[in-house]
Amino acid sequence: MMHCPIIIVGGGPVGLSLALELAKQGKNVTVVDQGLDKRSDGRVLALAISSQQFLAKLNAWPDDQVTAIDCVEISHHGLGISQITAESVELDHLGYTVRYSDVCQAALAQVGQNKHIRLINAEVTSVNDGAEYATICYCDSDTRSEQIMTADLLILAEGGKLLNDYPKKIKHDYQQMALVAEIKTAKPNDGKAYERFAGSGPLVLLPFNGNFVLVWSLPTEQAQQLKADELSLIKQLDGEFTNRLGGAKLLSKPICFPLKLIQTKKRVFKRMILIGNSAQIVHPVSAQGLNLGLRDVQVLSSILAKNNKVEITDIAIFDKLRDKDAAAVINFTHVLATKLESKNKIIEHLRGAGIIALSNMPPVQNFVARSLIFGI
Ligand SMILES: Cc1cc2nc3c(=O)[nH]c(=O)nc-3n(C[C@H](O)[C@H](O)[C@H](O)COP(=O)(O)OP(=O)(O)OC[C@H]3O[C@@H](n4cnc5c(N)ncnc54)[C@H](O)[C@@H]3O)c2cc1C
Repeated sequence: MMHCPIIIVGGGPVGLSLALELAKQGKNVTVVDQGLDKRSDGRVLALAISSQQFLAKLNAWPDDQVTAIDCVEISHHGLGISQITAESVELDHLGYTVRYSDVCQAALAQVGQNKHIRLINAEVTSVNDGAEYATICYCDSDTRSEQIMTADLLILAEGGKLLNDYPKKIKHDYQQMALVAEIKTAKPNDGKAYERFAGSGPLVLLPFNGNFVLVWSLPTEQAQQLKADELSLIKQLDGEFTNRLGGAKLLSKPICFPLKLIQTKKRVFKRMILIGNSAQIVHPVSAQGLNLGLRDVQVLSSILAKNNKVEITDIAIFDKLRDKDAAAVINFTHVLATKLESKNKIIEHLRGAGIIALSNMPPVQNFVARSLIFGI
């Protein structure tokens, strides 16, 4: 049986960037992933400037096919409009849009050249946390053989599937799907992102490569219907928002992602620790999931930097250090995804008034924006 100091299960953006951070500290890391080729994943992410800077420092930021976001306009049904600009928070840009697959590819290219990182192409089938060591069982994708490996520290960054049935998880099914598609509007995009609350569900338009990426959170059935009927999709989209940009055309086949909130109450176990989507999966309405995961990486790697060897007593503090930031983002996102979509007329007007109030209170607006960009 093989033993490694640190095993990371999951080579998504969170797992790979943690591996690169730990390798910088001279630590030997084994990453196990079952699907490193992400080309079929059509997600385009909005990443805060702090996340972009972190990935750039690891040389894991793709050089092209990224678009700067300089302004976010939040509106509700003509009742209120609020704008957050990069200038107002004293930054060059608020963030960037980038393909999920390009971020993974850029990080993988660095991992492939790093002598401290071993990559195993395998599906992990079970994990076991023990006082002396943690154990994983995996099925090697090349040899199809079952293997067992132990570690001083096991880090789960596999997106939350392995401990899906763990009872101590907070779960909320939004009964929505995010319908994602690239669109072109008659009015070209100028680095502005739009968040629209009203109509069928929260609608986000992200500037990307001269066009937009639509992330529209809709009731599941409606999302599937509109995915299958592109004419109706454009008609409804124009009616709800894009007419004001001169009308929209589809540039890609729409895809759908089911939406759930999943939050673990505990990230640190005996020799196992949960980060990124393994610790929390949030609604994409405020584009925060990976930003939050990359902040998990930065905090965990700074804890582990204190010692050359893995000292298990050091990691107990991780939960405490991540609680506030994660809770703030999760609560904020959950309110946006649920309460702001209420069909109640009174709530609708309060919401419009709230957005107007936000636009009249730049310090509050800047606080919210900076918290989302840099964490709490
Ligand atoms: C529609 C949509 C839009 C989004 N938009 C944004 C956005 O604008 N901004 C933002 O910050 N976030 C956004 N997110 C969230 C973001 O995509 C996630 O937070 C991020 O991908 C989490 O990264 P991760 O590395 O933790 O997990 P993942 O990206 O899920 O990676 C997990 C990895 O683990 C591997 N794996 C899984 N199970 C196993 C196993 N059993 N054995 C071995 N390997 C395994 C997988 O192959 C994968 O490589 C969005 C999400 C969705 C669905």
